[in-house]
Amino acid sequence: RLHNTLEDLRGSIRVFCRMRPLSQREKDLKNTDVSQLVDSMTVELQRPAVGSFPNEPDQFNFDAVFKPGTQAEVFDTCKDLVQSAIDGYNVAMFAYGQTGAGKTYTMYGGKGDGEGTAPRTIAELYRLLKQEEDRVQFTIMASMMELYRNELVDLLTQKGGPKRKSQTPGSATVEQKLNVRTDQNGAVQIEHLSEEECKTAQALSDLLERGNQMRTVCATKMNSESSRSHLILTIRVVGVNKQTGQKLSGKILLCDLAGSERLKKSDVSGEAQKEAIEINKSLTALGDVMEALVKGSAHVPYKNHKLTQVMSDALGGTSKTLMFVNCSPASSNFEETLMTLKFATRAK
Ligand code: ADP
Ligand code: MG
Repeated sequence: RLHNTLEDLRGSIRVFCRMRPLSQREKDLKNTDVSQLVDSMTVELQRPAVGSFPNEPDQFNFDAVFKPGTQAEVFDTCKDLVQSAIDGYNVAMFAYGQTGAGKTYTMYGGKGDGEGTAPRTIAELYRLLKQEEDRVQFTIMASMMELYRNELVDLLTQKGGPKRKSQTPGSATVEQKLNVRTDQNGAVQIEHLSEEECKTAQALSDLLERGNQMRTVCATKMNSESSRSHLILTIRVVGVNKQTGQKLSGKILLCDLAGSERLKKSDVSGEAQKEAIEINKSLTALGDVMEALVKGSAHVPYKNHKLTQVMSDALGGTSKTLMFVNCSPASSNFEETLMTLKFATRAK
């Protein structure tokens, strides 16, 4: 198939940078746009001038840069990954960046033209399945979870999660810890995680909607914000060839990661600090895994964090990975954007 050949040429890890536009609020506050698109693969970041000494801009290269690009344009460059999952590959698409940089916009987005990667992936998936339905019997299974403070929470049933002080008597929590196991083939299994069959695109969209609502509920209960947890939607695609009985199994992991911003000095109090430390650990572990994969290291440190354990069978090996690096172009976010771009270059 043509798309496989193209895939091989491009390699199995892609890193896309996306600069969102300045927000109205940032404009009102007289923020300037410190990013510049050099070409479709290169972005420059201008350090704010100190006194009368202008600084040389830093350049960063990616497989693609969108500034900001439409949702359709962005999806066009990654929709072949949906076919890959049907072909039996494991695929991970995830968004990294500081809170407010556009991760949720990229992964979920709004309605209509504003739809992001997840709804477009769903539409593309069922469109492709329909084309092959005479030949292959497909089953789509989906699960949705979040990783908060190193504990997994099932967003379809609310199982798992960190122990809460004000736990409702009899509620299903710690007894059903969602432990991560890896079988001898490297396939990830998550204990107690519920999975639902989705026969139609609508059913899968509804599941996603439910999971997202549950995420907000859970965040409120835990006195947090949903941007402080990692959201992981898993779509398993199992196909059985009607003639030969041959079975193919692939999956798509869609992750909206927790915000990568450093902890503010004013936020040093207990809970926020614990949250921040755990997020930092998990994103560092993810960076280490990406770096090891790109370098071709013999040892890939998946075990360093639950996040990388959960994602392990969709990162490296024969799997295909797409990392969105979401950035704010605002002068006030310069330091965070620089950190984000530096993180991303480790995966290059
Ligand atoms: P995050 O999930 O990283 O915290 P959001 O996705 O919520 O950030 O984005 C913050 C704000 O910026 C939202 O209002 C969102 O609609 C807007 N935004 C983000 N990316 C884009 C983009 N590419 N084009 C237009 N608006 C964007
Ligand atoms: Mg978000």
